[in-house]
Amino acid sequence: MSKRILISWLLWPALAFAQQQQDFSKVEIKVTKVSGNIYMLEGQGGNIAASVGEDGIIIVDDEFAPLAEKIQAALHNLGITDKPVRFVINTHFHGDHTGGNLPLATTGATIIAHDNVRKRLETGGPGGNGGSIQTQNPPQPKAALPIITFANDVTVHLNGEDIRALHFPAGHTDGDSIIFFPNNNVVHMGDDFVRYGFPFVDVASGGTVEGMADACEKVAAQLPADVKVIPGHGALSNLDDVRAFARMLRETTAVVQKALAAHKTLDQMKQEKILGAWQKWSGSFVNTDAFIETIYNSLTGTKGKFIRHN
Ligand SMILES: [Zn+2]
Repeated sequence: MSKRILISWLLWPALAFAQQQQDFSKVEIKVTKVSGNIYMLEGQGGNIAASVGEDGIIIVDDEFAPLAEKIQAALHNLGITDKPVRFVINTHFHGDHTGGNLPLATTGATIIAHDNVRKRLETGGPGGNGGSIQTQNPPQPKAALPIITFANDVTVHLNGEDIRALHFPAGHTDGDSIIFFPNNNVVHMGDDFVRYGFPFVDVASGGTVEGMADACEKVAAQLPADVKVIPGHGALSNLDDVRAFARMLRETTAVVQKALAAHKTLDQMKQEKILGAWQKWSGSFVNTDAFIETIYNSLTGTKGKFIRHN
């Protein structure tokens, strides 16, 4: 093992380390029919949405590279088509949503994403909440990069549906898209909406808590009440779940904003447990202290100090 690799491993957070070390051979892909010809796939990493029909297969996000074959096999097992995945839309650049880009592009898929997804995949670099959560994003080879990028939105006309990816600025990252399947009444939220508790907001990669709340509120305002919501991580959801999540983001942000206005330090906010009323959202990835940091850094524009090492 080279010294450089060792250093980068040591700097990785526990979660990313665990994901890198995982034995993917044990992962099984669970397929759930969401509506009509839309399926949700869960393996390891972000949730996948798939439109499967006579024109072929388009998927939203693609988990990790070692799972690409299993993902294709799970889609073929539906018995609708035996052709390889034709298009992939990335909701954002994180490796647990884009790791399959390279193998899927190699078997003929065209990768589509927001401009900033391509930029961040190409250059790599440090990410995190500007505080205790630090991540390292390795630069990706050319073949893993999106071939088609967009600044605001793009529509893919496939399987009788106008599948639309719409960019929402400065939410989970600065390159987020939410994907709408209007005929099937399904939406894939990417990591602007997740079910593991307080969300990871990649403040170091242009994310903000307020932008994430904006995205959730805008989506909730424009979709039918019975829309089926695929979160970036976690179980299939509905609009009330999205609204509750957005409300939590707004309320916790207001509490930290008030503490900032009272000139409290980050340490004081943690000691005073100012987010104590939201304790049920505290998770193993983002606990309450880490979320106070996230909001504090989001509001103050603190992106954290990083040592570049790749
Ligand atoms: Zn993410």
